[in-house]
Amino acid sequence: MDFEYTPEQEAFRGKVRAWLTENFPPELAIDDPMDDRIAPNRQILEKRRAWQQKLAAAGWAGLSWPKEYGGRAANLLEQVIFDEEYFRARAPILPGYSGISLFGPTLMQWGTEEQKKAYLPRILTADDIWCQGYSEPGAGSDLAGLQTRAELQGDYFIINGQKVWTSGAQYADKIFLLARTDPDAPKHKGISYLIVDDMHSPGIEVRPLITMNGHHHFNEVFFDNVRIPKGNLVGPLNEGWKVAVTTLAFERGIAGGGGHAAQVRRLAELARRVEIGGRPAWDHEWVRQELARFLIECEAAKYTRLRSLTRLLKGLPPGPEGSTLKLVGSELGVRIAGFASELLGAYAIMGEPTALVPDAPRWQNRLLSSRQYTIAGGTSEIQRNILGERQLGLPK
Ligand SMILES: Cc1cc2nc3c(=O)[nH]c(=O)nc-3n(C[C@H](O)[C@H](O)[C@H](O)COP(=O)(O)OP(=O)(O)OC[C@H]3O[C@@H](n4cnc5c(N)ncnc54)[C@H](O)[C@@H]3O)c2cc1C
Repeated sequence: MDFEYTPEQEAFRGKVRAWLTENFPPELAIDDPMDDRIAPNRQILEKRRAWQQKLAAAGWAGLSWPKEYGGRAANLLEQVIFDEEYFRARAPILPGYSGISLFGPTLMQWGTEEQKKAYLPRILTADDIWCQGYSEPGAGSDLAGLQTRAELQGDYFIINGQKVWTSGAQYADKIFLLARTDPDAPKHKGISYLIVDDMHSPGIEVRPLITMNGHHHFNEVFFDNVRIPKGNLVGPLNEGWKVAVTTLAFERGIAGGGGHAAQVRRLAELARRVEIGGRPAWDHEWVRQELARFLIECEAAKYTRLRSLTRLLKGLPPGPEGSTLKLVGSELGVRIAGFASELLGAYAIMGEPTALVPDAPRWQNRLLSSRQYTIAGGTSEIQRNILGERQLGLPK
């Protein structure tokens, strides 16, 4: 593992930082970009869309995409450096993230030339916002159990069924989805990966699902005899599972939540301000020990992330670190939020800034939002199954 950045990489960091300082509109800065990755309303969505367009025009959107599709063909470390700087600037997740990080790279691998030409350029420029139609009421961890049907009739597929937890469907122009095209085949066969070009097509209904922090993050999406051209199939008919797995691999890479070390450092500052039992919280040994334990775990996660990166840079396939980081990162986030509520007491459930804890809303949000990362992109139990079976060799 090499811990040092080369002078070229440091120069690249300087260039990114300078560009962000000059161009990022401060009014768009947010505290927890991952939680707020779906804009809370259309006005903010449009501002973020304009921001994505600005990034795209300067060549910063889809950094690692090949040049022929509008990217910069940046290498992995440049992408990492860019992400570090981007989050340091507290810039929001782009409205087109689902297209940029999930659908676009999948299409590059599986799509026809015609599909690539039609869809890829519009992703980076935020002309098309995509959402992901995988989960269903009876198919989440067991995704291959999905029941939505797509029946081939002449030159069209006719889609019927329901998706759920569809992030950002309320703003999306298009959806990539999985549907059963051969109901008689075994579970993992007979699934196809399809594109619905227009979320406003007749027969599509999007119903909001409001999360406990009041945010309209995801939706139910119903399909009632929705017609799409045969050419909207990505990859081979009935072999969509392989295409779906490509998207999932890109998704695992970005799941888990983040910013834990910065949160722990902020809690250490707050521990000196708030009191527990009539004394500054910091004076209690258990408070200091808990903070130290969290920071140690953050460091361990950091080195695991670097180990994973080193593997990829050496051209090796992704190792078990992906599941480890997803599991440890998301569970750590929940524990930090739980500790914050013990430390801050009533301040952790205030939705408004206070004189003593100006960032109270942030801790309320952490308490309500951190759990999502233990579910999205594969639950903690599923990660434990993967690690148990594939790493430790335990029986199924
Ligand atoms: C914030 C957020 C955004 C999301 N966005 C999208 C999206 O845009 N598009 C989309 O398609 N989906 C999305 N999802 C859905 C997500 O992929 C599913 O929630 C996830 O795969 C889990 O499926 P489920 O909710 O059906 O839970 P289930 O699979 O029903 O699981 C319920 C419980 O049983 C446990 N369990 C299940 N199977 C096993 C097993 N084999 N061994 C041990 N325990 C098990 C689980 O760990 C969990 O605790 C999102 C979810 C969240 C939280």
